[in-house]
Amino acid sequence: MEPVKPWVWLRVFQHLHRASLLPRRSHSGCAEHVTAPVSSHSRHIRPTLLVSRLYQPSNLRDVGQDTRLQGEMTCKSQRLMQQAGLIHPSNPGCYYYLPTAVRSMEKLVRVIDQEMQGIGGQKLDMPSLCSAVLWKTSERWDLMGKELFRLKDRHGVDYCLGPTHEEAVTTLVAHQVNLSYRQLPLLLYQITRKFRDEPKPKFGLLRGREFYMKDMYSFDVSEEAAYQTYESVCQAYTRLFTRLGLHCVQVQADTGNIGGKLSHEFQLPADIGEDRLLKCENCSFSANVETIASDRNDCPQCETGRLVESKGIEVGHTFYLGKKYSHVFSATFSSAQNKPSIAEMGCYGLGVTRILAAAIEVMSTEEGIRWPGLLAPYQVCILSPKKGSKVDEATVIAEDLVHTLGETLPQLRGEVVLDDRTQMTIGKRLKDASILGYPYVIVVGQSTLEEIPRFEVICQQTGETVFLNKDGLLDLLGKVETV
Ligand SMILES: [Zn+2]
Repeated sequence: MEPVKPWVWLRVFQHLHRASLLPRRSHSGCAEHVTAPVSSHSRHIRPTLLVSRLYQPSNLRDVGQDTRLQGEMTCKSQRLMQQAGLIHPSNPGCYYYLPTAVRSMEKLVRVIDQEMQGIGGQKLDMPSLCSAVLWKTSERWDLMGKELFRLKDRHGVDYCLGPTHEEAVTTLVAHQVNLSYRQLPLLLYQITRKFRDEPKPKFGLLRGREFYMKDMYSFDVSEEAAYQTYESVCQAYTRLFTRLGLHCVQVQADTGNIGGKLSHEFQLPADIGEDRLLKCENCSFSANVETIASDRNDCPQCETGRLVESKGIEVGHTFYLGKKYSHVFSATFSSAQNKPSIAEMGCYGLGVTRILAAAIEVMSTEEGIRWPGLLAPYQVCILSPKKGSKVDEATVIAEDLVHTLGETLPQLRGEVVLDDRTQMTIGKRLKDASILGYPYVIVVGQSTLEEIPRFEVICQQTGETVFLNKDGLLDLLGKVETV
């Protein structure tokens, strides 16, 4: 056997090196920019997140005149998300979710998990490949028309890519022969990719063909119990949107092809919203225009108020289903009298990728993304001085600050990035930081070299700039909530 040549090992080493986010020491040996932690911190070495190493490809930003790559730049959130290197178009209605977007998505998923599990939801994961047999049983195979992505396996058997999972989950529960009334309400949910053959995908992640959705399904002993479950899910949705700082309205909605007796949408008011909402000026009544006779402009609830129209992005939807699916698939439980009874059902959706894009749509400025605090991919960005500038010596202060924050404030671990692109001016890097929308940007400059060092902190959510000493900074950032 031929011995491995040394250059092979060199290549392996270089490969490993490139793969890491760790700062690379200069190989030239001269006092080049080195961002490794100083030795006093060696016991706590954590990899520093360097902006220069994050995969947020700037070469993808300038999609310029290439309309194939650009897609239809139809709204602010799509444009900003592409500019900031969060998403990249692949084919119509489908996107690459790049690492920064995935961080944000994972945070959103954690918030959703907390709220769903807070009302007793249990998370599971169902196949995306759904058998046509189930969809034919519920009669939705035909009803869904062209929206359903259909395919055949090698044996010629029909499947669809699941846009929703009422059939699948009801079949699962029906297969459990010994389900007792004591186990109800049963709330099962998943957060998975869903598919819909949109005729005209647009608005980036707001109307795509492939997207993430949270879908929950409830099983109850009675109609009354099912209404209570319905109410508790609506309250959980309201809490969720409040935590994200999104002012969503709950409106009466059409039950569409899901079917059932009662339905609400959670709508985020926005100019580009595709849903038309009517809200009473006088009372709490609000509804999707689809649910009301089109010529009506007086309120059906108080009968005196005038209905005012606005636009919204649908971010959540709840349905009381009754026995529509449980009857068809025989999802039963044994009652207190030990008799088989058909369960009462509800289903509850949240557009996960849509919430992310809708939040960016309504919160951002034209120049940069502004996040719900909890969902910002990184909370803090520290800018070290430009190389060769007269405050060059503050570089070490910037590097030190990264570690101090990580050690002093546990909730900020993994949340602080260092913009080490010191060949760029502070101004250029500030502009990038504004596009990505880190809630806190810290400029380490002249004021950190003064007798009492102060940090320039730009709070991007409020637009304020403050100068703080180290204690003041720790105090401010200590209040940041992360998930
Ligand atoms: Zn009214």
